[in-house]
Amino acid sequence: MIRNILSIAGSDPSGGAGIQADLKAFSARGTYGMAVLTALTAQNTQGVSAVHAVPPGFVAEQIRMVFADVRVDAVKIGMIANAEIATAVADALAPHRGIPVVLDPVMIAKGGASLLDPAAVGALTTRLLPLATLLTPNLPEAAALLGEQEPIDRPAMEAQANRLRALGPAVVLVKGGHLGGADSPDVIVSEKGTTWLEAPRVATRNTHGTGCSLSSAIAAELAGGASPEEAVAAAKAWLARSIDEAGRLSVGSGHGPVHH
Ligand code: PLP
Repeated sequence: MIRNILSIAGSDPSGGAGIQADLKAFSARGTYGMAVLTALTAQNTQGVSAVHAVPPGFVAEQIRMVFADVRVDAVKIGMIANAEIATAVADALAPHRGIPVVLDPVMIAKGGASLLDPAAVGALTTRLLPLATLLTPNLPEAAALLGEQEPIDRPAMEAQANRLRALGPAVVLVKGGHLGGADSPDVIVSEKGTTWLEAPRVATRNTHGTGCSLSSAIAAELAGGASPEEAVAAAKAWLARSIDEAGRLSVGSGHGPVHH
């Protein structure tokens, strides 16, 4: 049976990140993708020029209509733009506990544009973190959620993953891509303990939307019954292949997308 995965996230009209990346990742991982929009962005591979948030009540209504009709096997939450949307999403998902939820706490685009009102970090932390089966921050996002300095080494990464897990998510994946150095280690903290995933750093410009694609692929794996550790490992292996394939694309002159 093909699994149905719902993304609740923002739009990237140039197709590399946000909802567009999520839907491509869902298809690439053999699932049926659905999308509730939280915000429109005007952007290309060079950057974001404008953001237009969807009214929170309309975000809730989209979620209500999907659940009223379709079996949802997993949810991925990406850009939520502001505190009111975070609250609307949390309220709309509240009756649907028991479905895996992957939360990618999108804050700042690679070009530096803010995709989350800084005043919304509190609502994200108090309302959405407790709903998450799996939280997928990068290092700046982990630090911002905790109100701490960015981790500079592996022990600090692991400590922040544990402190984030104490805020509600069942599992936390902290992505170490911003650590610098030859490796790009990720750490998973769950009830089973700590798992490190080692990967060599890939020298590429084609990193636009990698976070979106990874969290979507994890949601697809969880819907299929994988454990969190298996889901992350499978999604990372797939994303590495997609980054390898990105050279076949010719999309824009900035940070290019991966090939889903
Ligand atoms: N635009 C939207 C709508 C997103 O959800 C995201 C996701 O993180 C981005 C842009 C970020 O893109 P980038 O990977 O270039 O930082």
